[in-house]
Amino acid sequence: MHLFRLNTKRENSKSFYVIHEDTCPLFHQLKHYIDLGEFVFCSTAMQRARELGYKEVDGCSECCRACHWRYN
Ligand SMILES: [Zn+2]
Repeated sequence: MHLFRLNTKRENSKSFYVIHEDTCPLFHQLKHYIDLGEFVFCSTAMQRARELGYKEVDGCSECCRACHWRYN
């Protein structure tokens, strides 16, 4: 299980809201974020973020590669 955090300030080239896992170097650097909770898969965290109203979400290319748009 990992804690997932949503950057509520849009980032990356597509200006999506990006999700990070607690192992990510960027995780603790986020200034505007919400904690989504602990999940096994980033896909569940993505789902949670969408439920909260953040429709344009993406997985971080470093820590959530399985959910990063390039790999979907
Ligand atoms: Zn990350």
